[in-house]
Amino acid sequence: MNTRDDLPLSSAALDRLADDGRRVRLWWRDDDARTVTPELERLLELAKRQALPLALAVIPVGAEPALAERLAGASGVSVLLHGHAHANHAPAGEKRAEYGDHRRAEDMSREIAAGRGQLETLFGDRFRPVFVPPWNRIGHTARSMLPGLGLPILSVYGSAKPSGQDGPAEVNTHLDIMDWRAMRSVSVADADRRLADLVAGHGAGHGAVRSTVAGSESEGDGGGEPIGLLTHHLQHDEAAWRLVEVLLGLLAGHPAVTWPDLPAAERHPNAH
Ligand SMILES: [Zn+2]
Repeated sequence: MNTRDDLPLSSAALDRLADDGRRVRLWWRDDDARTVTPELERLLELAKRQALPLALAVIPVGAEPALAERLAGASGVSVLLHGHAHANHAPAGEKRAEYGDHRRAEDMSREIAAGRGQLETLFGDRFRPVFVPPWNRIGHTARSMLPGLGLPILSVYGSAKPSGQDGPAEVNTHLDIMDWRAMRSVSVADADRRLADLVAGHGAGHGAVRSTVAGSESEGDGGGEPIGLLTHHLQHDEAAWRLVEVLLGLLAGHPAVTWPDLPAAERHPNAH
């Protein structure tokens, strides 16, 4: 499989970066894990084959010790906090959200603290203090309480908002391989266009970092927003899996791409 032929626009955009001595940082988040399933095994196998770090957003209610046991044998896999029960609390007619401004602050804060403690107990060092709200949606109340609950980083979808004085830093995803209205993956051509745009945007100075000296890079210390790939292993059909493989096939080995262990690498003044 030649992934360059499948992704001509992205390949060209990355080649231009490489020619210019620039690099872009990538990271990979997969959502909704609770336990070990055949789909999770397929996901872990892909990450292992490409030797890429993978951040699993785990739902604490229903998270099983079997998942922790399985991950103990996998290298490069970190765990992020994905809401509480993945329950929708938005009123009928509004977009789904577990942590929109729909509930009392103390109820939300109790849930988030409990989930954080639970994942830390289950996953130990693999757990990173990153909050991933279900449906990538979070209201002002929950957002502002995160750093105080030991979660200095928020991960949603789209460009990061500048972090307020006490708000969380954002490490976001930008390339969702699913088309949720159609409940299938986006086409390879659409993903190629989206990724090429993201790379070109970073190449314009936003996220790419220039090598200071030949052979030494400065990524991780002043680069802009890294590009986040977003997958949902439990929802993938064969076309979706193929798209992930095609994307990783290009991104894993391209000289213009680095894969830092992101949630750990992103430091925030409030981090502890
Ligand atoms: Zn989710």
